[in-house]
Amino acid sequence: MSGHDNEDLIDYEDEHDVVPNGGAAAVDTNGATGEDDKEKKSFTGIHSTGFRDFLLKAELLRAITDLGFEHPSEVQQECIPQAVLGMDILCQAKSGHGKTAVFVLATLQQLEPTDDGQVKAIVLCHTRELAYQIRNEYTRFAKYMPEVRVNTFYGGTPISKDAELLRDKKKCPHIIVATPGRLNALVRDKILDAKNVKHFVLDECDKMLEQLDMRRDVQEIFRATPHHKQVMMFSATLAKEIRVTCKKFMNAPLEIFVDDETKLTLHGLQQHYVKLEEAAKNRKLNDLLDTLEFNQVVIFVKSVARCQELDKLLQSCNFPSISIHSGLQQEERISRYSAFKAFEKRILVATDIFGRGIDVERVNIVINYDSPPDADSYLHRVGRAGRFGTKGLAVTFVSSESDQGVLDAIQSRFEVAISDLPEHIDSSTYMTS
Ligand code: ADP
Ligand code: MG
Repeated sequence: MSGHDNEDLIDYEDEHDVVPNGGAAAVDTNGATGEDDKEKKSFTGIHSTGFRDFLLKAELLRAITDLGFEHPSEVQQECIPQAVLGMDILCQAKSGHGKTAVFVLATLQQLEPTDDGQVKAIVLCHTRELAYQIRNEYTRFAKYMPEVRVNTFYGGTPISKDAELLRDKKKCPHIIVATPGRLNALVRDKILDAKNVKHFVLDECDKMLEQLDMRRDVQEIFRATPHHKQVMMFSATLAKEIRVTCKKFMNAPLEIFVDDETKLTLHGLQQHYVKLEEAAKNRKLNDLLDTLEFNQVVIFVKSVARCQELDKLLQSCNFPSISIHSGLQQEERISRYSAFKAFEKRILVATDIFGRGIDVERVNIVINYDSPPDADSYLHRVGRAGRFGTKGLAVTFVSSESDQGVLDAIQSRFEVAISDLPEHIDSSTYMTS
């Protein structure tokens, strides 16, 4: 198990898309989300529970108020009361419904930060941008808990910097948000001592446990943590088979599932397809970008090469476009993620590394320029629009029989009607005013 060069641990993110990571990356530790927190819409649920009912620390309640969160979402109401008591949680809930806040609040609530180099919580997720985003969420919620230190560790950055941080008792993070490859390297080389870990979280857990290389890393990290700890796992998609695997890590968890898959459909999201030849995709895309109204749009493609080319093409036509894929150096990836999140660019061309977990509030249109590989990945991709119950539009290009097969599978599983894209769509139906 040893003898690996840590710098070449695989980056799992996109099968088509494995490019060696090079170069150092300076991660902006100040969390550049550039968002206006006050703009948050309140969740209009049927219940009238407030965050106050969860008996959270005053520091957390103040931060929640600053963020403009008025009511907890359904999944937050179901999970937070148990999560803050240290129960294990296995949770499936719709995209964009606030799963992150469940584990962020639960860990911060229970955390007792010390200055003796003890890592208390480990959060694992499948991409570096998501790790970066989750760390920013911690920063926002821990605004009034200045003693709490949270850091990200992921590939494509010098491991020596991670080691330096972990060895300094005054700087060692209490909470680590990481991708599994890098964190396992730190555990294996005995740079990270996981013996004091009290909370172990997997976000996008099905993705991490279905992919065998990632699962192996997760298991090795898990084994380095003490037996007695809280384990929490989250995803919008949790097939029955993978639930069994998840539960092997847990002890009598609270289980929240959406067994009726039709309930995973986002109701604010309008969904259409366009049947066309491969060669007609660019013209159609150009058309859509000219005629649809959007705040921000994400265009998904199936490979790094297509991502680079399509972005270049859009830029040459003066579209405010940017791309994100694993062929970029890590520093550049985060900086592009931040630029898009901060609304500096309106169009993002992305591979599936951006397909799950990423939360950009202003995205109201998702275009599948290349069809997603399967129904689950469709659900995650289109969930980038219509976050937290806002309106949105998803358009999928269908240019082959296999594309059609995926579309049929989506419609039957989620019982969503994906219709032919109409000539004209009233923008009020997909733009939140
Ligand atoms: P999920 O992980 O379930 O897909 P996220 O945790 O990324 O969803 O949350 C989606 C968005 O909703 C985020 O921008 C988050 O800040 C916002 N959000 C979460 N909970 C609330 C709430 N109770 N009130 C308002 N906005 C919320
Ligand atoms: Mg999420």
